[in-house]
Amino acid sequence: MTITLEDVRKSIRNIPDFPKEGIQFKDVSTAFKDKRIYNFILKELADHYKDFGITKVVGIESRGFILGSSLAGALHAGFIPVRKPGKLPADTYMQTYDLEYGTDALEIHTDALTPDDVVLIHDDLLATGGTVNAAVDLVKKFGVKQVFVNFFVELDFLKGREKINPNIPVWSLIHFE
Ligand code: AMP
Repeated sequence: MTITLEDVRKSIRNIPDFPKEGIQFKDVSTAFKDKRIYNFILKELADHYKDFGITKVVGIESRGFILGSSLAGALHAGFIPVRKPGKLPADTYMQTYDLEYGTDALEIHTDALTPDDVVLIHDDLLATGGTVNAAVDLVKKFGVKQVFVNFFVELDFLKGREKINPNIPVWSLIHFE
C-alpha cells in the first residue's frame, strides 16, 4: 500500500481541550507509531532538504527531537538539542520568549555550532511561532552560513509563519487551515 499525505494527515490525533480548554492538541504520536507512516514522513523531509548542504539539524525539546534526530541521520548531518532551561550540562546561551501567560526560555550549548554550519531547525509543530523564533535567535548567535526551518505540522490559522524572519526558508509537510 502506498502512503499519501492524506494518510499522514489522518494519522494525527486531535485531542480537544488539551492541555487547556480551547486548545485542539495535535498528537503526532499516532503518526509516528506506524512504521510505514513514520518512514514516509522521514523520506519526504529528507528528500526536501537533501541538496542544501545541511551540516547540523537543531531539534527543539522535546517532540522536535524525534523526527529531528532521524532527519539528521538521513541527511548525514549532526544533531543539536535546544532544551528547556537547566537541562544542558555545559555552558549555554539562553533566549526567553513570550507565552500567552508569562514567558519561557530555551538554551543551546555555546559550542554547538560554528560559522561554517548550514543549519536546519526542526520542530514537530508550528503554532504561534514563539518557540521557533527563540530557536532562530539562538542559532543566529553563531553567525552560521544559512538557516532553514522545518515543521512536520503547521497550524496555518495561527499565522506563526508571519512571525518568522522572511529571509529564512520555512517548509512544513502537513498543514491544518
Ligand atoms: P508556538 O511557540 O506557539 O509556535 O508553539 C509551538 C510548540 O508548542 C511546539 O513545540 C509544539 O509541540 C507545541 N504546540 C503548540 N500548540 C500545539 C498544538 N495545538 N498541538 C500540539 N502541539 C502544540
